[in-house]
Amino acid sequence: AEKSAFPNVANTDYADAQLREAAQKALKQVQGELGKTYLPFIDGEYVSTSQTVNSVNPSNPEDVIGTLGLIDIELADLAIQAAKTAFGSWRRTPASERSAILRNAAEIMERRRNELVAWMLLEVGKPMRECDGEVSEAIDFCRYYADEMERLAGGHNYDLAGENNRYHYQPRGITLVISPWNFPFAIPTGMTVASLVAGNPTLLKPAEVSSVIAAKLAEILIEAGIPKGVFQFVPGKGSTVGAHMVKHRDINTIVFTGSQEVGCQIFRDAAILQPGQKHLKRVIAEMGGKNGLIIDESADLDQAVAGVVQSAFGYSGQKCSACSRAIAIESVYDAFVSRLVEAVRSLNVGDAAKPSTQVGPVIDAKAQQRIREYIAKGKEESSVAIEMPSPEPGYFVGPVVFADVKPDDTIAQEEIFGPVLAVIKVKDFDAALEVANGTNYALTGGLYSRTPSHIDRAMAEFEVGNLYINRGITGAIVSRQPFGGFKLSGVGSKAGGPDYVLQFLEPRTITENI
Ligand code: GLU
Repeated sequence: AEKSAFPNVANTDYADAQLREAAQKALKQVQGELGKTYLPFIDGEYVSTSQTVNSVNPSNPEDVIGTLGLIDIELADLAIQAAKTAFGSWRRTPASERSAILRNAAEIMERRRNELVAWMLLEVGKPMRECDGEVSEAIDFCRYYADEMERLAGGHNYDLAGENNRYHYQPRGITLVISPWNFPFAIPTGMTVASLVAGNPTLLKPAEVSSVIAAKLAEILIEAGIPKGVFQFVPGKGSTVGAHMVKHRDINTIVFTGSQEVGCQIFRDAAILQPGQKHLKRVIAEMGGKNGLIIDESADLDQAVAGVVQSAFGYSGQKCSACSRAIAIESVYDAFVSRLVEAVRSLNVGDAAKPSTQVGPVIDAKAQQRIREYIAKGKEESSVAIEMPSPEPGYFVGPVVFADVKPDDTIAQEEIFGPVLAVIKVKDFDAALEVANGTNYALTGGLYSRTPSHIDRAMAEFEVGNLYINRGITGAIVSRQPFGGFKLSGVGSKAGGPDYVLQFLEPRTITENI
C-alpha cells in the first residue's frame, strides 16, 4: 500500500476576521519598511556592490520596494570558489542534518507567513490569497524534499550470496538556481532547497523584479542554519553575470524556470565544455505553456466558466500553468462564451493590496507593452468578446477574451503570459483534442465533461504534464500534483514529485566480492 499522504500545510482562512486583521497589520508594517537595500550573500557575508537596481511595486511603480546590490563577474567567481570550498564538508553532512535545516526553514516561513505574503503582494502585484498559497507551497517544498532526501539516503541493497551490491546517491556538485518572478517565493524555495538537501552547494540568482522577496528567502535559509558558502544569494544581471555563471566550468547543475527563449539559451550554453571542465552539466528547465481547457457538450457550464476564469486570469494570466485557450464544442459554444463574458465583466481589476482585487497588475512596463502588442494582433486575427479597462497608474492590462480564434492564430499559439484568453470553436471532441494538442508545449491542460468516454480519451490522448478533469488547471499542490511538462515546456522531472530530488544526485554502485 502507498504510505500515508504527505501532510500539506493549510492556507490562511481569511474568512476568519482575526486572521484577516493580522494579515492587514503585517501589510501595514511592511509598507513602513519599503526602500531598504538588500545585498548579495557570498561566502557567509553580505557584500556591497557598485551596481544596484530598484525593485518597484507594479500596482504603483513609484513605490520602490527595495534596492538590490547586483554582483559582477568578479563576485560571481568568488561565490563559485566559496561553493567549491564548502562542498567538502556539506557533502559529508548526514542527510538527516541537511533535512533538519530545511525543516527549520519551513518553521520560520510559518512564523513569518503574513509578512512574506505582504512583501510578495507589494513586489509582484499578486493578490493576497494567492501569495498565501505560495507561502504554503514553499513550506511544503521544504518538508517534502527533506523527507525525500531521507528516503533516498537509504539507497538500495542488491546483495547476493558472496557478493554485496550497494547502490547509493551522492551529490553532483555546485548548482546554479535561476528563478522566476511569477512565483517569487515558492519556486526559488523549491529549486534551492531540493539542491541543498541533496548535498550540493547552491547559488540563487533571482529574477530582478522579485529580488526583495528572494532576499527574504536568503535570510530565512541563513537563519535556518545553512553553513557558510553552501548557500549563496547572487542577484545579478541575467544577460551578463547569469550567462557567465551558466558557462562557468565549476557549475554542475542549472535549475531554471522562465521563458522558453532563455531556457533554450541556457541549454545551449551549458552544453559547451569549458577548458578544464571535467563533467557534463545538467539543465533542469521549466519553460511555459499554451495551456488549453476543453469544454464539451456535456460539461457543467457553471463549473467550466468559473474554472476557465480562475485559470486564465488568476495572477493576471502570469502562471506557466495558466489557461490561455478555451476549446469549446460547437453545440455549447455560444452559451459558454456569453456566460464567460459576464463572468469576466464582474472581475475586480486593481491594486493587489486592495482586499477586493481579483486581478492585479502585470509585472512591469515591458510585459504590459508585450501583452498589448498581442492584444493588437488578436484584434487583427479574430474578434474581441470582452476587453476590460486597465486602471492607472500601475502596469495594468484589463482581461481580454477573444472569440472565434482559429487554432493557428498567433494568440492561439504563442505564450502571451498575460490576461488574454483565446476561445476556439470546434465541431466535435476529436477536433477538440487535436486543437488542444496542436502547440509546441505540453504543460497543463483540462477537460470539463460528464461523458466517461471523453474523460477516458483525454486521459490517454491529451498530451500534457498535468491534466485536470472538471477543475481549474492551476495551483498544483506539492506531492498531490507533482508539477511540470514536456515538449517545449521543459526538461527535467516534476517539482513536488518523487523524482525531483534525484536530479541533484549521482547514483553509484559498489560491488564487493566476499
Ligand atoms: N505550479 C504552478 C501551478 O500549478 C505553476 C508554476 C509556474 O507558473 O511555473 O499553478
